[in-house]
This record gives sequence, C-alpha cells and structure tokens, in this order.
Amino acid sequence: ADLSAAWQAAVDRLSPGARVWVFPAVPLSFHNDIVIAAVQNDLARAQLESRVRPVLEQALSRELGTEVRLVVTIDASISPPEPLALEDPPGRYSALDDDEDDDEDHFVPQWGPAPTPVTGRPANIAEARLNPRYLFENFVTGSSNRFAHAAAVATAEAPGKAYNPLVIYGDSGLGKTHLLHAIGHYVLGLYPSSRVRYVNTEEFTNDVINAIGERRTGELKRKYREIDVLLVDDIQFIEGKEATQEEFFHTFNALHNENKQIVMTSDRPPKNLKTLEERLRNRFEWGLTTDVTPPELETRIAILRKKAANDGLTVPADVLEFIASKVQTNIRELEGALIRVTAFANLNKTPVDMNLSQIVLKDLVSAGGDPEVTSALIIAQTSAYSEFSIEEICGTNRQRDLVLARQIGMYLCRELTEMSLPKIGQEFGGRDHTTVMHAVRKIGALMTEKHAVFNQVTELTNRIKQQARQS
Ligand code: ADP
Ligand code: MG
Repeated sequence: ADLSAAWQAAVDRLSPGARVWVFPAVPLSFHNDIVIAAVQNDLARAQLESRVRPVLEQALSRELGTEVRLVVTIDASISPPEPLALEDPPGRYSALDDDEDDDEDHFVPQWGPAPTPVTGRPANIAEARLNPRYLFENFVTGSSNRFAHAAAVATAEAPGKAYNPLVIYGDSGLGKTHLLHAIGHYVLGLYPSSRVRYVNTEEFTNDVINAIGERRTGELKRKYREIDVLLVDDIQFIEGKEATQEEFFHTFNALHNENKQIVMTSDRPPKNLKTLEERLRNRFEWGLTTDVTPPELETRIAILRKKAANDGLTVPADVLEFIASKVQTNIRELEGALIRVTAFANLNKTPVDMNLSQIVLKDLVSAGGDPEVTSALIIAQTSAYSEFSIEEICGTNRQRDLVLARQIGMYLCRELTEMSLPKIGQEFGGRDHTTVMHAVRKIGALMTEKHAVFNQVTELTNRIKQQARQS
C-alpha cells in the first residue's frame, strides 16, 4: 500500500509530458532501495527507460525518503496500459519541447545509451564467451523469478554500483545461467569497451590447477582480475576445493576493491555451502542474494510461447498448455518437451496437435516424480543399447556408429542430469566442454531430421528412466 501511494504521489509530481510514459507501468515492489515496476512490453519499457527514468527516480526518491533506483521489468500479464501512451506518435513528445514546464526534456541518460543489438559488438563479446540466446529479451518473468531478474537488470545497468556481489541461487533449470549471460550481454551493450568474462566454476578450478602446475599464476591473475564484470556459474562446485577457494578469495577481493562487479550462481544459498571457507561465505553475503523458484503455470506457458516464437514454430495454445501442465519444475525440461513434440511432428509431417503431444509425452512423469539419473547409468545404458563397450563409448575411436552413440550419451547427460558441460566431458573420457556442446547441438538437430535417431534417443531415454526408477 505504501509503494502504490508513493508511486502515485511521485507520478503527480511529474509534468504531464512525463506522465504519459509512466502510465503503462505498475509498481510491484520496493526492496533494498530498488523499486520494481512492470510494463506490458518492450516498447513501453524502452519508452519509460529512455524518456523519464531519471525524473521518476528522483520523484520516487523524494516520496520514499531514500535514494531509489528504478527497475522496469516486462510482464505481459499486467492489466493493459492506457492506450494513450503507446499509440502516441513519436513526434508528440518532441512537440512538448517548447513547453517550459517540461523539465524532463533535458534528459541525459544516466547509465549510458540504450543497449544495441547483439550484432556488431567489439571483440570483447568473444572474450566474454556468452551464449547469444541468453538475453534479457528472451527471459520471461513471473513471480518465481521477478526479483532475481530485476536485480540482474539493476546490476547490469550499473556494474559494481548496485549489488556486489550479486548471488542468484536455485534449483537446476530455472534460468540462473540465462540471467548470468544476460547480464554480460546487457553490460556489453551499455558499455561496449568493458571487459566481461563468463566462467563456469569447473573451468575456473581447472585454470587454477593448471596455473599452479605450470607456474603461470600471472596469466591466471590477468585472466580473472583485469576485467570489469566476472560472471561465475555454479559456485557450489568450489566446495571442498581449497586451492581454488584460496585463489577465488583473492580474485574476489581484487575485483571488489576496485568496484568491479561479481555475479555468481549457486544451486543453494551461500550459507548452505558447507565446506566453503568462512571468509568466502562472509564475502558472498556482502551484496544481494536472491533466488529463482519453479515458475507457475502461466509463466511456463509464456516461456513456451516465447520459445516457439523464437524458433519459428507454430504450436496451438492447447498444446502449449498441455506441455506446461506436464513439466512443472524445470525449464530446461519444459523446453525439451516442446522440442520433442515439434520434432516428432516434423518427422512425421503432421501438424502439432493435442493427440500427437499426448503420444509423444506420455512417458513424462509430472510434478517432480523424476528419478535421479546418473551419468554412469546413462553411459552403461548407452553401451548396452548400442552394443559398444563402455571403454569404447568413452574412448577415442571415431568409427561412425560409435561416434553417434557417444554423442547420444552426452546429449542424454545434458537432458537427464544436472551436470555441466565440462563435467559431462570429463565423464566421457576427459573430453572438452565444446565437444559436449557440439554433440548436444548435433543430436538435437538430428532428432528433427532422422527418424532413427529420434527413435533411438526416445527408446534409450525410456530405458534409462525405467532403470533409474527401479534402483
Ligand atoms: P540453470 O542455470 O538455473 O540450471 P538455465 O539458465 O540453464 O538454468 O536455464 C535452462 C533453460 O531454460 C535455458 O535454455 C534457458 O534459456 C531457459 N529458461 C530458464 N528460465 C527462463 C525464463 N524465465 N524465460 C525463458 N527461458 C528460460
Ligand atoms: Mg546453470
């Protein structure tokens, strides 16, 4: 109640010209000096951000008695905005420039220009090693992730200034890695010359071990300390690794001292990382810790809709709802189910409909009933199914059928376990994570092209799940 009163009062302080752009927004929360407001779409957000953010922040700060930062998220489900704002021709605002009361037309962007599209960035984008699909634009928000998303946006807008470190935790498949990459993209969009680096904790660990072994610690320091934004994924893997913790502690301090941004993800809150040195745990709590939780039905449907649109797939609404009702706790599996259905339809040259979806997804266990699948089980079953030995599956022979079996095994590890790419590579005879990524992509593509591969993957998946349920 306080926030909406303050919001209303702040809006009243604005000039009529500015109010136009604020109308579509709905205030959601006020927490840690951040006000989160939602608008219905990208356009409304862009207009709010570019035209009135500073004056609105000022007005809100006055009303709330503290220096407030505004974060605007997109939520398609909020009640429709006043048509006035969105249908205004662009010229209208400039016409207001003559208006003397209009103080917001001397607007100076506070954090730099609006982000540019992903293409055409400088070389820093390559160094950052970001997945081009993991953008804020592709991230659907709902109550399960709204705060994490807002914190990520705020952090990306003002690296080193908003929350440092920012820690996002939650179960597998809920969008942590996506948010981490999105921060990187957004920072590079706002500040193209900044140095951003994404690293998985396993790779960091490997780098530490190699640097110590080969006495190249100078290189290690350059790699991780001479940057502006360090994005560390799955920090829980640092548990119990003393040398890595030691190195990370110094990295953390060096960056933090210089107000460089650190963002980390974890599968549990830092306080539950049992074998983490106290001094590190303590530092993780300096900034903001926020979680992501499983999305509700509406958000799951929205995620599927967005995914289908991005991939150019036409999927009827009832099918999206059906898939969303079947897969409830993991967004990676949610997307996997959609791909299965559309791949099957594509193979059989039939339209995607309820009937087909029910057939394809009949084995999906809903609501967390999934058995625990290990890489050992997958490798053993892949071996039995393909009639290659485990040694061959994990070995180096490049005979065609064997390579396919190996790649299917890696693909299934990605689909059915929560293992990271480097970890999967390790299990398959010490392969590089890029090899695993290639295998995952290749099998994903083959499934839509080749009946045999689709059938093999489906059959093998069923066997693995059956085995896992029995043990
Ligand atoms: P985590 O790191 O938490 O295990 P990921 O970030 O890898 O999860 O997300 C798994 C998949 O789900 C990715 O393909 C990601 O793009 C997608 N995803 C997760 N959350 C969302 C979301 N809110 N909107 C759209 N896609 C999402
Ligand atoms: Mg992840």
